[in-house]
Amino acid sequence: MKRPCVHCWSSDGELQRKMAAHAVSVLVTGANRGLGLEMVKQMVEASHPMRKLFACCRDPDGPRAEALQTLAKKHPNVIAVVRLDATDLCSIKQCAQQVGSVVGNGGLNLLINNAGMLAKGTLQETSTEDMQNTFNTNVMGPMNIIKEFLPHLRAAAKASGTPGMSSSKAAVVSISSFLASLEIVKQSYDSFPAISYRISKAGLNMLTVCAAEELKKDEILFSLLHPGWVRTDMGGDEGDIDAPESVQGMLSVMASLTEKQNGAFLDYKGKSLPW
Ligand code: NDP
Repeated sequence: MKRPCVHCWSSDGELQRKMAAHAVSVLVTGANRGLGLEMVKQMVEASHPMRKLFACCRDPDGPRAEALQTLAKKHPNVIAVVRLDATDLCSIKQCAQQVGSVVGNGGLNLLINNAGMLAKGTLQETSTEDMQNTFNTNVMGPMNIIKEFLPHLRAAAKASGTPGMSSSKAAVVSISSFLASLEIVKQSYDSFPAISYRISKAGLNMLTVCAAEELKKDEILFSLLHPGWVRTDMGGDEGDIDAPESVQGMLSVMASLTEKQNGAFLDYKGKSLPW
């Protein structure tokens, strides 16, 4: 896949024109720190026109959202900070309502399921509670978010008036992990078991592939991205790359998605990953 320029989110003139023709509205979950915050930063600094960026987090008024609030103050017309807890259906419904009242018939073009949690541990170390919390955040959260935002995604697909699929039309990108891959378990399990995380991200992958199949008639694109091993709170200090490099890659990949990548599992460089 061609690597587009992050500043215009496009790999060539054609895509750039498409992006420019449709000012996009984007929602990012877990936007207060790590990769989510970096996505908001890079998207707001991009040169293409953006209608609205909904930066969602669990506690918009708390100390963990200070950096996001500072960024939002610099771009008050673009960034809206909205409360969304992926494990709380009420907050998802409220958020969907708020977003709907802003985007109206134009709909929501791109939904990024980024919020996630990691509980480390082997099968024998993992409690029922660890598994439930991880599953609720990494699978039930994205599933409820997709369901509640579906009317806005459908509206965006309808409003676009262009054929095919793209992230500037109507798309859901969920941030998965290569640890979800069944094929790499043998090489990677001993060094990093995290069984609840692996199972939950594999569940997220299946959710995405099923949604891609079910909603292709609505021309809503669903893809999975692995951000690389990134130095964030979750990735730790020993990661391979920093958040700006990962996000630059992921935004470029998102910009280049078409119906060919519906249901695809790609890394931040656009390379297909094994299931
Ligand atoms: P961080 O731990 O740095 O950030 C996680 C984000 O998710 C925070 O904003 C956190 O908010 C939010 N979050 C957690 N639980 C919930 C919830 N219930 N509702 C709403 N938001 C929540 O992780 P990264 O930025 O590194 O990871 C982002 C995504 O990338 C995750 O899905 C992760 O699994 C994935 N990923 C990361 C890799 C890495 O190396 N970093 C590798 C592969 C995948 P709060 O501050 O409130 O806790």
